[in-house]
Amino acid sequence: MTLAFDPSDLKLPVGHFIGGRYVEGPGEIAISAPSSGAVLGEIPRADAELVDRAVSNARAALERSGWGGIAPRERLRALSRWADLMEAEATTLARLEAICSSRPVAQVAAADIIVTADQIRFFAEFADKECDDLVPTSDGQLGMISSQPYGVIGAITPWNFPISMAGWKLGPALAAGNAVVLKPSEMTPYSTLYLAELSVRAGIPEGLINIVLGDGPVTGTALVQHPGIDKVSFTGSTRAGGQIMENIARTGIKPMTLELGGKSPMVVFADADLDLAAECLDRGITPNAGQFCVAGSRIIVAREIADELAERLTASFARHQPAATWEEEPGFSPIISEGQLARIDGIVGASVRNGGEVLCGGERFDREGSFYRPTLIRDVDVANPAVVEEIFGPVATFQTFDSEEEAMALASHPAYGLCAGLFTRDLHRALRLTRRIEAGTVWINRYGRSADHILPTGGWKASGLGKDLGREAYHANRRTKSVLIDF
Ligand code: NAD
Repeated sequence: MTLAFDPSDLKLPVGHFIGGRYVEGPGEIAISAPSSGAVLGEIPRADAELVDRAVSNARAALERSGWGGIAPRERLRALSRWADLMEAEATTLARLEAICSSRPVAQVAAADIIVTADQIRFFAEFADKECDDLVPTSDGQLGMISSQPYGVIGAITPWNFPISMAGWKLGPALAAGNAVVLKPSEMTPYSTLYLAELSVRAGIPEGLINIVLGDGPVTGTALVQHPGIDKVSFTGSTRAGGQIMENIARTGIKPMTLELGGKSPMVVFADADLDLAAECLDRGITPNAGQFCVAGSRIIVAREIADELAERLTASFARHQPAATWEEEPGFSPIISEGQLARIDGIVGASVRNGGEVLCGGERFDREGSFYRPTLIRDVDVANPAVVEEIFGPVATFQTFDSEEEAMALASHPAYGLCAGLFTRDLHRALRLTRRIEAGTVWINRYGRSADHILPTGGWKASGLGKDLGREAYHANRRTKSVLIDF
């Protein structure tokens, strides 16, 4: 079946999704298609009152269904049915994602949805396999560490991978026995709404997943500050993560998981497999037009191989051809908005004014939509704006080093610590340097996640707090209680 579609024919979900049904409101935020610039419609903006309604529905659904206390295998069954339904409805889901985002419809159907369904199953499997602990105590006592769900989780997601990011939040939260009120990005709401609709059709009790639409300052702030939200789980920029910490602190104390920005280095030593490295360097920055948190946006190369790698990269960057996200064959992705494209172009301009040389790209594609050419910038020092700022676009800087020490100094970023890539045939060196790199993830002779959801993801330093995926994400959605009994 064809996945390509005409954006004017697609029926879009309307309203928030609260208590198992759509709740309409006045259209206040315009949604556009970055592939063409066309305005698709408007969504409402939830205010504090509507957020309160969603949180109350979530709490009531928890109590009515007993979700946190039912036999864990019941949660496993319901979540597995939801994952199956996502795959069965992949075409609709993928189109609702592709229409307003940077994700090509075929990639959403073949990758994002399949991986998300798998992750939901992965977390569902924890539900009936995790055990409490009995701990060593004196005779005549029984010590126990038991865990239980938080209650209602407030989740906020970005626009770059809407289904995947919703899955990272909803999967572990529900498997661990919580309800969720989720605010998707105001630029890409439709696929998340449909995910919630599918959850009800799969038999997950109505009200366990609620979606409130709106922006960060009004809806996001109301959500994180709501006293009925027991924990906040956020993915987005470091700037917004800081605002959330501040806004929560104004009204009290609340646990939170923050998955934030990055400026990740990919370091290539002279002994690396150059074919592999060249392929990974391209794959580290061009998918989704570089709009992914772990993008390898700082390429750092041994001087002996620098010219050859720069030549290979400029050639491979030039091969990427753009396509609207609703075309059958995936092409190079659009930038999410004209505002974001102007920001990218502004940083490239500032980089050149500060001594950078653009080896390729550095301008938009000459066509409809917000498409920016893959860009490589050489001759940048550590203070160059393109080296310092998270650009969140298809722009990589290219720096060279003469020694391992210099490579490590360049790889370190003053603020971010999300991810790093190392390319070398010397495993001793790779392991030695892995210990020194300040990042939550290190990839050696590869760049990108695997299909193994057991590896947690999350940043060090200003790149975040806590983890998504892995066992840690399940446990992050439960809190422990220490119990001591005297006989
Ligand atoms: P953003 O921070 O602008 O917005 C993210 C979400 O937060 C949106 O839903 C937005 O409405 C909301 N928001 C914004 N300000 C808020 C506030 N003060 N209070 C509450 N909610 C608020 O980020 P974006 O532009 O949508 O996404 C790109 C960013 O996300 C990049 O920095 C990227 O690195 C990061 N990201 C990180 C990861 C990760 O796992 N670390 C994954 C994906 C994206």
